[in-house]
Amino acid sequence: MFGIKKFFSKEDPAETEIVTRLNSYRSAIFPMGVLSEWILSITKDKSHYKVVIELPFAAQSQNKQLEQYLVTQRIKDVRVLIQTNIPDSYKFKKIKHIILVASGKGGVGKSTTAVNLALALRGEGAKVGLLDADIYGPSIPSLLGLVGEQPSAKDDKTLNPMKKYGLNTMSIGYLVPAENATVWRGPMASQALNQLLNETDWGELDYLIVDMPPGTGDIQLTMTQKLPASGAVIITTPQDLALADAQKGIAMFSQVNLPIIGLIENMSYFNCQHCGEKNSLFGSDGGSELAARHGVPLLAEIPLDLDIRIGSEKGDNIIERGDGIAEHYIYSAQLIASMLQLQSSQSAGVEIIFTDD
Ligand code: ADP
Repeated sequence: MFGIKKFFSKEDPAETEIVTRLNSYRSAIFPMGVLSEWILSITKDKSHYKVVIELPFAAQSQNKQLEQYLVTQRIKDVRVLIQTNIPDSYKFKKIKHIILVASGKGGVGKSTTAVNLALALRGEGAKVGLLDADIYGPSIPSLLGLVGEQPSAKDDKTLNPMKKYGLNTMSIGYLVPAENATVWRGPMASQALNQLLNETDWGELDYLIVDMPPGTGDIQLTMTQKLPASGAVIITTPQDLALADAQKGIAMFSQVNLPIIGLIENMSYFNCQHCGEKNSLFGSDGGSELAARHGVPLLAEIPLDLDIRIGSEKGDNIIERGDGIAEHYIYSAQLIASMLQLQSSQSAGVEIIFTDD
């Protein structure tokens, strides 16, 4: 797919040098470097080189890191442009990857993180959907500022997803009043999830983020078994109780052989508005220790931040701001995308078939 379009001159030593340097670059996002087959073209424009890279995962804003790296390698006057082209291997309908966002307990910021990861993946050049599977406490409509709005029907069997900030979203919260959802029992809840997933016209998606119900009981287990997911991201706070529940989450996903993409520690610390000092309100290093113990990556330590709470309450897109807070989510999203790419390239050739039952 990539090789045909590629054009750069092997005779120009500078171009060969750029390819070699990019191949030997290493970072958490590029653990194997920038592969030659991803380099679409290198052209010389006046004084500078323009490198166009087509990445099979969402990490467009890594172009700045690559430019900086090339400068340290004495290749100056280079511009790097990244395009996103995720290989068409579909896990479910026209969806390439399903990512579960889960937590052992409620109130740790799972839904907030799910929304921001979805927005960050979108910002990195991917087509993204967001499914609110938190049937008992759907909060996606409010986090996206869509309370009271309803999806339209495509036909008598399918709903159009609600669109906001470039995301395709679906939630039980768009369809029934919140008080009706809370009384559902297990089988009804998992049936509702099935319907939301199957009867939404998602279109073509690179990533579908699923905001799971909190906890590690039978409902979560059944839902996990029904979703053809590529992996799970677990959200925890540094408190002992939350960490103990996150550990149960790790055990639950391991039981059904679902890869854990990583752990995100939310509300990790608080930067004092007056003196700037970092306060670890709920304890420190709990997330990193838990991650290390289970051999899963710690994707981010996100601070307790007033802008996150206020922005979420207003249904704002806090990723668009591009500030330090947004960067936590953007970096986590890039790591997730990169890990899924590595996972699919390693399992290439193995056909996984999911059935309806
Ligand atoms: P959960 O889905 O785990 O129940 P939510 O995402 O609904 O949790 O978040 C619970 C509350 O915490 C919300 O009011 C949300 O705005 C707030 N919140 C989440 N993460 C942060 C954060 N990092 N800083 C400040 N407030 C946060």
